[in-house]
Amino acid sequence: MISTKMKKLYEVKACSKMSPEKLAEFRDLRLHRMIRHAYKTTPFYKNLMDQAKVKPADIRTEKDLLKLPPVTKTDIQENYDSIVSSAFKEEDCLVRTTSGSSGKMLRVLWETDSFWNRLAMYYRCLSMIGYSPFKKLLYFLPVPEKSGFTFGLFRQMGLEPKTPFEEIRKHLLSFKPDILAIYPSYALDLSNFLSRDDIKKIGIEAISLNSEMILPHDRADIERKFNCKAYDEYSSVEMGFIASMCRKRKNHVFTDNVILEILDDDGHPVRPGERGEIVLTSLTNYAMPFIRYRIGDYSHFPGNSLCSCGLPFPVIGPIEGRKDDSFTLLGGTKIPAWKIYEAVERPLEEFGMDKLVLTDFYMVQKKQDLADFFYVKGPDFSDSYLTMLHQGLDNLFGHHLKVNVAETDNIDRVKTVKRKYIHREVA
Ligand SMILES: [Zn+2]
Repeated sequence: MISTKMKKLYEVKACSKMSPEKLAEFRDLRLHRMIRHAYKTTPFYKNLMDQAKVKPADIRTEKDLLKLPPVTKTDIQENYDSIVSSAFKEEDCLVRTTSGSSGKMLRVLWETDSFWNRLAMYYRCLSMIGYSPFKKLLYFLPVPEKSGFTFGLFRQMGLEPKTPFEEIRKHLLSFKPDILAIYPSYALDLSNFLSRDDIKKIGIEAISLNSEMILPHDRADIERKFNCKAYDEYSSVEMGFIASMCRKRKNHVFTDNVILEILDDDGHPVRPGERGEIVLTSLTNYAMPFIRYRIGDYSHFPGNSLCSCGLPFPVIGPIEGRKDDSFTLLGGTKIPAWKIYEAVERPLEEFGMDKLVLTDFYMVQKKQDLADFFYVKGPDFSDSYLTMLHQGLDNLFGHHLKVNVAETDNIDRVKTVKRKYIHREVA
């Protein structure tokens, strides 16, 4: 096991040291290999390529990908069985479902070895902001990974967000992490709980922000309160690590793991500076290939794709991803989005990380004391989820907010607020 881990770590490290030209060559080799694999072992991509009159040999570089149509989350949901590679057995794979916060929920398979690749990539993200074997990491995850994030070699602690703040404060003061990995709305909430004296004693050197879109004023707020710099990390269940910020505050795309395109509304590549939708091709997930996958986030390419930090990975602009609202109750009490996710999503884990209980949801606060929760049933749906949901919402809102829960066939994200899953309509 150690040897697989070390091999992945070494491989990932070697890519960081390549020249941009060598890295592009490496990326294209991986792409061609993935395309051949997808054509050979998945009926979905074989059909897609046949219909586009494209053979695997026609796709050898990033630009060749334009010959294929992009695929949506709905395509993946509807064709799941023909997208999973016939070269893999599900029982040999890691199965994860994406969270509702990332859009329609998907079941995703990864080959078991890819887990080590993911860890090595995470180590890369952290080293880009100053992490080293001598530093301590504290991360928040709904379900902390048992095997840890740093190969079991380094000092780290994983905490669940639902842990009471008073307990988290104690952990922070005794563990004194150098790096904190956390989601923005949670960081803001936690910073309001901690005193200036606490923060001075903890002495965090850098914060890695993940999972949510980060707005400039929120980042400034987090940096001011924690008295350190905060950097973005961009990853997903489907893709693994996509991009991460270096200390020069540039988002570097990990082109050894993904190919990232940005397309305009007509599906054409955007010009530098022009905003468009991010479309991703995984170069490492052989169990369930994602080729030209519309992930639903937006960004742009800056005029200059290089950064003075010396990393060979090309630079993109800020990621415009999901941005949820907090709810406001009568009397002004603010309920941050992360707490609502805890109530809505945590019960899903009771069914297992590989189960798809819901395929989508949307929650909207209509009045100060009234909200609607819409959900779309998944194949593993059970009524007991609704019982747990009601319980969670009750604990969170009490009698201050009534939530109407309703099933629906489809949540139209064009008509609803497209990029929000938790949305407040009242001022
Ligand atoms: Zn850089």
